[in-house]
Amino acid sequence: MSNQTITCTHLDQIGDFPSNFTVCPQCVEMGDGWVNLRQCLICGQVGCCDSSKNTHATKHFHATGHALLRSLQPGDSWIWCYVDEVGIQGHPAGANAQ
Ligand SMILES: [Zn+2]
Ligand SMILES: [Zn+2]
Ligand SMILES: [Zn+2]
Repeated sequence: MSNQTITCTHLDQIGDFPSNFTVCPQCVEMGDGWVNLRQCLICGQVGCCDSSKNTHATKHFHATGHALLRSLQPGDSWIWCYVDEVGIQGHPAGANAQ
């Protein structure tokens, strides 16, 4: 998996954000639940995944154009680019085991 050709042109925009989030703040505000958490790697905003009712991570991309996110699920180490539609396994920015 690590030898794949990476076609994402947004990797230099990745910021350094804490990953110790346990809730989707927008879902909490609405009183809804979520399935998995995702985090925008451009601004650090936390949202919920596409399996969640409110898909806040994808909505964040549509609202801001921020292309990159990572999974906040323990053990996951991948990032996803909405624009290039490429997932990168084992990316350092996806590692959130701290
Ligand atoms: Zn990209
Ligand atoms: Zn949400
Ligand atoms: Zn963002």
